[in-house]
Amino acid sequence: MEQKVYLHNTLTKKVEEFIPNVPGKVAMYTCGPTVYHYAHIGNLRSYIMEDVLEKYLRFVGYDVKRVMNITDVGHLSSDGDTGEDKMLAGAKRENKTVMDIAKFYTDAFFEDCKKLNIKTPDVVEPATNCIDSFIEMIEKLLEKGYAYVAGDNVYFDTSKLDDYYVLSSQNEDDLQVGVRDDVEEDTNKKNKTDFVLWFTKSKFDNQELKWDSPWGVGYPGWHIECSCIALKHLGEYMDIHCGGVDNIFPHHTNEIAQSESYIGHKWCNYWVHVNHLNTKSGKMSKSKGGFLTVTKLQEDGYDPMVYRMFCLQSHYRKPLEFSEEGLDNVARTYEKLLNRVKKLTGEGEVDAEQLEAYKAKFAASMSNDINTSMGITVLYDLLKEDYNDATKRAIIEEIDYVLSLGLAKAWEKTEDNAGGDDELVAYIEAKIEERAQAKKNKDFARADAIRDELKDKGIIIKDTREGVVWTIEE
Ligand code: AMP
Ligand code: ZN
Repeated sequence: MEQKVYLHNTLTKKVEEFIPNVPGKVAMYTCGPTVYHYAHIGNLRSYIMEDVLEKYLRFVGYDVKRVMNITDVGHLSSDGDTGEDKMLAGAKRENKTVMDIAKFYTDAFFEDCKKLNIKTPDVVEPATNCIDSFIEMIEKLLEKGYAYVAGDNVYFDTSKLDDYYVLSSQNEDDLQVGVRDDVEEDTNKKNKTDFVLWFTKSKFDNQELKWDSPWGVGYPGWHIECSCIALKHLGEYMDIHCGGVDNIFPHHTNEIAQSESYIGHKWCNYWVHVNHLNTKSGKMSKSKGGFLTVTKLQEDGYDPMVYRMFCLQSHYRKPLEFSEEGLDNVARTYEKLLNRVKKLTGEGEVDAEQLEAYKAKFAASMSNDINTSMGITVLYDLLKEDYNDATKRAIIEEIDYVLSLGLAKAWEKTEDNAGGDDELVAYIEAKIEERAQAKKNKDFARADAIRDELKDKGIIIKDTREGVVWTIEE
């Protein structure tokens, strides 16, 4: 498939044609979670959109290698190297060790990803696996004069760069994005924007995880992990680096500073940033508490796919405000969509030409900076087409590789339940429809009678937020 892809690049602040370093291949890096708590649905907005980007690139034919870190050390409560160590705070909160916390929340993160159909990256590397590489990189930065030791910590010297603000531009508004909490002065720093590469003498006497280093026993700063892990697995030339917009400054700005000083040339060509999921009172964040998780959404009766669709309906570069009403609307839309998909029987022969044409149409619809809502529109266009059901199913399976809205499960459910008996399915669907009509006419006695009639046949129906679900008793 010949499809040009255009991406918004934070480096140039423009939508540009995506041209990888090596034709046909994409080296892609994603900042992973800090595993001191459950991921909230804001974090997961970023991971859903990055998942779509990866799958879309694969869909149009690229061979993608995607790498992600797990932050299990070094991330302080303020991204400016101040405040409490997040992992330590998590361990204290739960009276467990840091490694227990890391293991628990890493597993929880991947469980959430699974529920949201987010593919696990090809390489996932926890920061604590790579301490030796961090030390080696810091040594080289010291050697090259880009770093200095002060107050027993090692710092990156931002005054050594021609353009430290290459990503964020020296614009107050942009910088605000990265300022999460307090800003404490660190008097060891030569320049305000210098950042820690290695902590030895820190205020954390009780730091649980410490390693020996040429500068004394200590632990790494947060930013070094992403530079190192990306270089280790993707080499010196990277195509795409992703994260949420709060990562632009200081995290990604510092990653560029370290990596390019270390390798001596431009590192990554495209920087893709997902905007925030907000609540009425601002950005959803782990430190604020009261955040929403996938499990909480499920407890409230939502299928995780409804949240994925909620994200896909809006563009990743726009802030997205979360509300229950908004989610309820999507739940209804998703239910209707699933019901329409479910009705496709699979009859007929797949028309290869129509299939290819629709794949191309879908690829084109998303090509302008991952336009997911256009992609969803193509899905609706397809449902209206005068194609046979087998062809429609085949196209949906292809498109849903990228959107990953669990659409194929509609058929699995039908087939599991009915054991392949289309007549029985049609009968149940008709009864459910009849009951819905009865309810609409406020004829609740009739509605109950239909439910009982089905129950007598061993067919149990249940009303959920996602619509009527049915099962057959063993
Ligand atoms: P963290 O676990 O805090 O390191 O964050 C993991 C990812 O989620 C990073 O890419 C963040 O930029 C992103 N992120 C954090 N908060 C939000 C939010 N409210 N909406 C979207 N993405 C977010
Ligand atoms: Zn990172």
